[in-house]
Amino acid sequence: MKIELLKGDITQINADAVVNAANSSLLGGGGVDGAIHRAGGQQILEECKKIRNKQGKCKTGEVVVTTAGNLPAKYVIHTVGPIWNNNEEECSELLANCYKNSLKLAESLGVKTISFPNISTGVYGFPKEQAAKIAVREVNNFESEIIEKVIFVCFDEENEEIYKKFLK
Ligand code: ADP
Repeated sequence: MKIELLKGDITQINADAVVNAANSSLLGGGGVDGAIHRAGGQQILEECKKIRNKQGKCKTGEVVVTTAGNLPAKYVIHTVGPIWNNNEEECSELLANCYKNSLKLAESLGVKTISFPNISTGVYGFPKEQAAKIAVREVNNFESEIIEKVIFVCFDEENEEIYKKFLK
């Protein structure tokens, strides 16, 4: 699996699947979640509502998939990152689950390229260095015959510098 690092807006980047740092309600929010819903259009929210009616909220570390609407992608994989609470062990495990479960689901959908935002490092307050370390580790540990490329999309310079360091 090839790993690429890009700086910018994840809604503008071509990939078969875009991962969304959703909140557990699945009904949209701020940050990257808001950007994905805005750029992708109403269809994503409609599907999220259907999923919610069927299964209720999405648990932290778990994933659901919808169409990507108007985004340059086939799917949006919504995953709920942990809210940082100083329980480092628990938060780290939950964040790792976001990456693992997203990759597993992507693989089952036949996804060849997948883009990830820096899950939990915005409003959810996960320390950026630790979050990046987990993201890179989980992607490196995931062996896949199907996924060809993982793109880490950093929105801010600080994350970009941290990822550059860990991807060296
Ligand atoms: P969380 O609630 O999981 O912390 P946020 O959306 O607040 O989610 O932040 C997660 C990361 O996404 C942050 O690093 C933020 O800078 C980044 N981000 C915000 N908007 C975008 C976007 N349009 N494309 C890519 N990343 C984004």
